[in-house]
Amino acid sequence: MTFRGGGPLDTSNVSGGGGGRGKLAVGGGAGLIIVIVAALFGFDPGVLGLGSDGSSTSTSSSQDQSAIDEQIQGCTIEKANEDTVCRIVATTNSLDAVWADIMPGYQPPQTKIFEGSVDTACGPATSDVGPFYCPGDQTAYFDPSFFDVLTDRLGGGDGPLAQEYVVAHEYGHHIEYLTGALQKGQRQGAAGPTSGSVRIELQADCLAGVWAFHADKGPDAMLEPLTQQQINDVIQTAKAIGDDAIQGDSSNPEGWTHGSSDQRVRWFNVGYGSGDPNSCDTFAAGSL
Ligand SMILES: [Zn+2]
Repeated sequence: MTFRGGGPLDTSNVSGGGGGRGKLAVGGGAGLIIVIVAALFGFDPGVLGLGSDGSSTSTSSSQDQSAIDEQIQGCTIEKANEDTVCRIVATTNSLDAVWADIMPGYQPPQTKIFEGSVDTACGPATSDVGPFYCPGDQTAYFDPSFFDVLTDRLGGGDGPLAQEYVVAHEYGHHIEYLTGALQKGQRQGAAGPTSGSVRIELQADCLAGVWAFHADKGPDAMLEPLTQQQINDVIQTAKAIGDDAIQGDSSNPEGWTHGSSDQRVRWFNVGYGSGDPNSCDTFAAGSL
């Protein structure tokens, strides 16, 4: 259990998606693995230059969407301690509260929880890409089934804070969008050990740590005091999704997009240790 207290959640910025029209060209099993590799987390379509023609006006009014919407509307803090959809919703509430507190001019993003595929202002996406943030519509996208992939296939931590870290990382991309760091990184290269992409991703990990630092503090804190075990779950997850961990023995830093396991752990800890977003300037860091 991580959320304290009880009662309803603010669902005004969260909606159900899914049933998107388009599908990314993803092949069979091998393709799937490559895409998940590219994803973690997330394969940000805007960052990687997927189309952003904004022509996605499709009908995502499937049964999937209304079922998820219904689930979202029924979320409470109690349910957030039990099911993944409500945990995502509650985490967005905590993130909005923390960022409104520490960032002047903060504007919350939208969050869409989908199953299968979804249309975005950055183009269509499927669950295979993992969670992502699209700057074109300032929306963070999550398919809850990703969390099973994370624990069962990639070896990430299975505690609730590990899932909350994923949500906080995508919010980190929104913060980067608001500060301009996302746009700056996009101009500095999509792959390589010191690429803009790696700096964007490590900064998002750091900003997730900043959230974790604040999330259990103060009279309005939504989280129970974090435990060492919960932090260990996050560290395990950050390690599992490092580029070198995912690429294995053949890992080539020139292909990195998110940073190594050690770097991801390090930058989460920088944010978690300081609670200060200014400590997250991966663009100024001499070594990552
Ligand atoms: Zn990311």
